[in-house]
Formats: sequence, structure tokens, C-alpha cells
Amino acid sequence: QVETLKAKLLEQAQEITRLRSELGSTDVEKHRDLLAAENERLRQEMKACEGELRELQRQQQEPCRDCPHLQENAGLREQLSQLQREAEETRAKLAELDLEVQQKTNRLAEVELRLKDSLAERAEEEERLSRRLRESQETIASLKSQPQQIKYIIKTVEVESAKAKQALCETQSRNQYLQEQVGMQKQVLKEMEQQLQKSQKMEAQLRAQIMMYEAELERAHGQMLEEMQEMEEEKNHAIEEAFSRAQVEMKAVHENLAGVRTNLLTLQPALRTLTHDYNNLKRQVRDFPLLLQEALRSARAEISQAIEEVHSTNRELLRKYRRELQLRKKCHNELVRLKGNIRVFGRVRPITKEDGEGPEAANAVTFDADDDAVLYLLHKGKQVSFELDKVFPPQASQEEVFQEVQALVTSCIDGYNVCIFAYGQTGAGKTYTMEGTAANPGINQRALQLLFSEVRGKAADWDYAITVSAAEIYNEALRDLLGKEPQEKLEIKLCPDGSGQLYVPGLTEFRVQSVEDINKVFEFGHIKRVTECTNLNEHSSRSHALLIVTVRGLDRSTGLRTTGKLNLVDLAGSERVGRSGAEGSRLREAQHINKSLSALGDVIYALRSRQGHVPFRNSKLTYLLQDSLSGDSKTLMMVQVSPAEKNSSETLCSLKFAERVRSVELGPVSRKAELGSWPSQEHLEVLKTLLGDSPGSAASPGRGHTSPSPGQLSSRSASIRRKLQTSG
Ligand code: ADP
Ligand code: MG
Repeated sequence: QVETLKAKLLEQAQEITRLRSELGSTDVEKHRDLLAAENERLRQEMKACEGELRELQRQQQEPCRDCPHLQENAGLREQLSQLQREAEETRAKLAELDLEVQQKTNRLAEVELRLKDSLAERAEEEERLSRRLRESQETIASLKSQPQQIKYIIKTVEVESAKAKQALCETQSRNQYLQEQVGMQKQVLKEMEQQLQKSQKMEAQLRAQIMMYEAELERAHGQMLEEMQEMEEEKNHAIEEAFSRAQVEMKAVHENLAGVRTNLLTLQPALRTLTHDYNNLKRQVRDFPLLLQEALRSARAEISQAIEEVHSTNRELLRKYRRELQLRKKCHNELVRLKGNIRVFGRVRPITKEDGEGPEAANAVTFDADDDAVLYLLHKGKQVSFELDKVFPPQASQEEVFQEVQALVTSCIDGYNVCIFAYGQTGAGKTYTMEGTAANPGINQRALQLLFSEVRGKAADWDYAITVSAAEIYNEALRDLLGKEPQEKLEIKLCPDGSGQLYVPGLTEFRVQSVEDINKVFEFGHIKRVTECTNLNEHSSRSHALLIVTVRGLDRSTGLRTTGKLNLVDLAGSERVGRSGAEGSRLREAQHINKSLSALGDVIYALRSRQGHVPFRNSKLTYLLQDSLSGDSKTLMMVQVSPAEKNSSETLCSLKFAERVRSVELGPVSRKAELGSWPSQEHLEVLKTLLGDSPGSAASPGRGHTSPSPGQLSSRSASIRRKLQTSG
């Protein structure tokens, strides 16, 4: 195509040069020639480019089969082919345009030729016409000279002139037409020039595009080369690295291999022994369930046998334990019986400042150095000796006193009822012995402390609960010292369960677990007592103060339950009141005190002499303490005395009371006689001592113990015999 185009172009150029030589070349034509030359040059360049491109493609195809730029390249190639197509089209257009230009040039030449012809015709015509005009004018002039002829000639001329004129007009109009034709041709030429310009512009654009594509191609090529270079470098580098790494790894593997080889050599014997062991174990595992079953069967049999044995020994032990308990109780009872359930101690307080000075405050009490149960009283110049179960001299400490008492206290844990009374005239030390001072506590606090420690010691087998109540008996009225309403008088009632036990409905019980608890309870009771009366000392000396401690135990192994009661009683002053004629409330108080103390004396006497009838109901105090005085119960009478000379007669009374109570020691035969001979002179004396000789004394000899009728006597002795038999 290029070749044909070139040939055509050459032809056209020749034609144009020919035409130009005919017409004289215009600026447009010059420009066109230039363009054509340029076109030619471009074509040549393009050819060279194509050649280069082909070369490049050939080069790329070989090394770059897997290259990612191949795709780009293909794209670019596509673009290039498109561009080539476009160039082709453009070239076709250019050829068309050239053809058109040719045609138009031809027509132009024709038109020019025709124009030349018509111009030449016109010039000829004009020449001819002007010649005829001149001839006509000459004729006219000659005719003028020949008037007639002339006229005619003129007329002919005029006629001829009109003809000429018409011809002229025609020629002119033809001329005008030709001019118009020329104008039109010029117009056409102009248009063609414009078209030519357009095509030139387009050509320039195309060229620019081609250049751009080429530049891009160049750049892509450069980039591709660069990347290929880089990739090549990378590839080489990676290969080098991999190679060196592989070398190192290879070395390590070789080393490992050597180690493994040596290991393998050493492992082989171990493997052999292991296999052997494994086989052994397998055999054992196979036999294990059988062995296990066998072992379990024998173990089960052994265990059940052992359990059976333990069971039987346990049963045996329990039986023995119960028997031992019973024996122990029996022995204890026997011991108590031998010692006597009722014991009488005496305690002499030291001389105090309150005793004053002078002969009145002199010491009237002395002791036997060899016998701690004997003391001597100097009364009205005569020395009287008294024998009690034990006598505590003034220097005896609270602890010493308590040591003698503590056996009684602990028996409470075993379920015995215990009463400890402090008896004596006011100021003889009853409260000191029972309550003591904060620094030197008395029996009350020590007893509770002992109970706590004992209970703690038995906590492994026993559950214990210790409760305390505090009460006061004043004028035969029982009041709760721990209750919310201390003024309320409490009643003593028989238990409705038919057990014959007594209880006090509404009496407050506090559970105590520590010394702090006891102190709180004591303080509480004290406060109650203090707020109730104007003069505590006076009041306390006229009332009995009771601290009732109940110990309930449960033997966890046997289910055995025990209840023991410890009654700690600070009695009212035993001094004889109203000798000089007391009156009113004082007298009533005295009567009540005398009544209750003599009732207590009667009860203790009756108990110690093992009488069938014990007059518990004669006073609130004895009635309340009935449970704790009868049966297996134990009683301690702590007779407090003052050593001062001035108190000697009261001391005498107290000691006589003590000795008499204690000395009622009865054998079976003498008991009968005793019972039969009651009331004896001795007893009357005791009662006199107890009650004093006040006119209002409530206790007449016959009141506490009326002499029993023969029927009563026989029934009583029978009951005593029964008792003796049961206690062995
Ligand atoms: P009571 O209660 O019998 O009326 P108290 O116990 O109040 O007598 O004693 C009267 C006084 O004697 C108190 O000051 C008390 O401290 C003191 N007292 C009593 N017995 C002793 C004793 N054993 N040792 C020291 N002081 C005592
Ligand atoms: Mg007192």
C-alpha cells in the first residue's frame, strides 16, 4: 500500500509541478509540497521504527517467556498494531484527499482553460465590436455629409447599432457569468485549501501521537529491561543464598547423622532390654486383674473380720465402761456414805479494823496444832473445844479453802447435786468465803472456773452445758436476781412430768462459757441487788443469796445424760436479833431468818440422822433446795466465825450449831433409839441456839420435828433400812 501510495503521490507531485509550471505555484501548493516531503520522511522513519520493533519483539520472545512484562508487552503490541491501523486509515484518508486534490486541480485547470478561452473570445468580440463601432461612426460621419443618404444610413446604423448594442449586452452578461464561474472556482479552491489545512493538522496530531507512542514504547522497553535486570540480580542473589544455606544445613545434617548413628549404636542394647521388660510387663498386666481380684477378695475378708472384731471389742468395752461407771458411782456413794453426805467446816476470819481495839477485839479463838478439825473458844473465861470436819484458821487462803471444796464441785459434773452453805453471824466472813473480792475470788467464781476446766478436759467424749441462775430469799419470798422484774415473787412448783422434781417457773437461766460470762452474771445480780435496797450490807445480811449452777452433760458415745446442780448459798446473818425487843419490819425479818435457818438445821439434821421424813417444806430455802439436799446429794456447811472477844457468844452459838449438826452420827440400832427418843434435850438446845430466844421465834421444838407416832416410826425405819440395803 505504501508503495502504491508513494507512486500515486509521486504522480500527483509531478502533476502538481506540471500544473504549477502552467499556472505558477501558489503558497498553498508550496506548503503542500513541503508537507508531502515531510510525509515521506515520516514514512521512512516509521519504517525504521517497525524494523526496530520487530527486532525487539524477536529479542523479547526468547528470554522473556515467563516474564510478567510479557502481558504488558502484548498490550503495548496491541496498542501499536492499533496505532498502525490508525496510521493506515490516516494514510488512506490522505490518499483520498490527494485524489480529491488531484481532481480539483484538474477541474481548476479546465476552468482556467475555459476562462482563458472565454476571455480571448471576449477580447476578440470587443475588438470586433469596437472595430464595427469605429466603422459605424465613420459611416455616420460620411453620411452626415450626405444628409439624406445620411439619414438613411443613420437609420441603418442606428438599426445596426442597436444590434451591436444587443450583442454587447449579451457579451457582457456572458462575461459576468464567466466571472461568477471564476468566483465559484475560487470558492472551491478556498474550500479545498481549508480541507488541506485540516488534513495537515490531523497529520500533525497523528505524528504527535506516534511520537508519544514511540516514547512510551521506549520507556516501557527501558523499564522492562531494568526490571529484567533487577530480577536477574535477585534471582542470582537468592540462588547464592539458598546455596550457602543449603551448604550449612547439609553440614548440620551430616553432623546430626553422625550423632544419630552413634546413638543408634548405644540404643540398640537398651532397646533390647526394654523390649524384654515390656514383654514382662505385658505378661504382668495380663495377670494383674486376677491378682487384684484375689487381693481384693482377701482384703475384703480381712477388713470385714477386723471390723467384726473391732465391733465385738467395742461392745465389750462399752459394756465394761458402763459397768465401771456404775461401779464408780457405787464406790463414790459408798465413800460419801462413809464420809457422810453432809460435812461441816469451820472458818475463822482474821481480826479486822472493824473489830476495834482493846479487850473487846482480843482473839478468843485458838487451834490445835495437831488436829485441823479442832478449835478452842475462850468464852466467859472458859475454854470450850469444838470438833468439826475441818477448821480453817484466819490465815487460810481462799485457795486452801477451795481445795477442800473442789471435790464436791467436780462431783457436780458426774451428775450429783451439791449444796454449799455459808453460815454465821453478820461480819463473820460468809460473803468473803462465797464471793470473795475481785483480786481474791471466793468459792463461787473458783467453782465455776473449775467446772469450765473440767468440762474442757472431758470435751472429747462429753457435751456439757453450764447455766447459772441467781436468786434471793428475803422474808420467805423468792426473787430472781437475773430477771427483768426482780420485784416479782417466784413460786416453787412440782414438775408436771410426775418425776417429783421441783422447779421455779420464770427463774432466769444464763448459759455461761467463760470466766467473763460469770463475771457479767455476778455483776448483773449485784446491780439488781444494790438497786433494790438502800443499804446493801444490811439487806444482804437479812436475806439468803443463792447462786444455782446447773451442769448438763451428754456422753456422745453412750448417749448417757447427766444433770448436776451446784447451789452456793450465802445465808442471812445467824445472829440473834430482837433480844432487846425489835419491832415491826425488823422483827418480821428476824422471824423469817430464824425460821428458815432453823428449818435448814432441821433438814440437815434429819438427813444426817437419816430420818424418813425430812421437813423440806418448812421454809422456802429448804423447799427450793430439796433436790440438792436429799438422795445422793452432798452438802457442805461452812460455818463462819469471828475470832473477836466481843463476838464470842455468837461464835459459840455458830460453833455449837456446827458441831451438833455434824455430830449426829447414827448406827442402825442407835438410830432406832435416836428416832424414838427425839426430841432430845440436845436437840432442843441446838434449836435454841439456832433460833435464839426471841419472843417471836417461829420455830418451837415441836414445829421442826414433831415426835413421830409409832406408825410413822415403823414406816420410817423401814425406809431407812431399804436405803441402807441399796447403798450396800
Ligand atoms: P458476812 O458476809 O458474813 O457478813 P463479810 O464476808 O462481809 O461477812 O466479812 C466482813 C469483813 O471481814 C469484810 O471486810 C471481809 O473482807 C473481812 N473478812 C472476812 N473473812 C476474811 C478472811 N478470811 N480474810 C480476810 N478478810 C476477811
Ligand atoms: Mg455477807
